Amino acid sequence: MSDCIFCKIIAGELPSKKVYEDEQIVAFHDIQPASPIHVLIIPKKHIASLADAGEEDWNMIGQIQRVAAQIARELEVEESGYRVITNIGANAGQIVHHLHYHLMAGARLSPLGV
Ligand code: 5GP
Ligand code: ZN
Repeated sequence: MSDCIFCKIIAGELPSKKVYEDEQIVAFHDIQPASPIHVLIIPKKHIASLADAGEEDWNMIGQIQRVAAQIARELEVEESGYRVITNIGANAGQIVHHLHYHLMAGARLSPLGV
């Protein structure tokens, strides 16, 4: 997707502070962190949101969970706790329409809700 910010980050056309990369997945620090640690974990394949994932994507999406747990371990927030979430669509506040998981940590996070 030529007009997708995250596809441009994957292609190296926009800079990012990467913390993880493999064949299918990349993770980098959020440009506007909403918590002391705020990392985005995304597939290299352009998928607009979880709602657009196909049968062939579930394995990779499972790997994203594994990568989230690994990064949390590396950043030493496993004990203090962390949150992994993905926003889907307008009511969830999804701004970037390329599937991404937020890994948030480093402080007591506010409860989920309205
Ligand atoms: P959403 O609301 O779509 O779930 O979250 C999108 C996230 O992407 C936001 O937390 C926002 O700060 C982050 N973001 C938007 N543009 C960029 C960018 O160019 N680089 C990085 N690293 N993060 C971005
Ligand atoms: Zn994209």
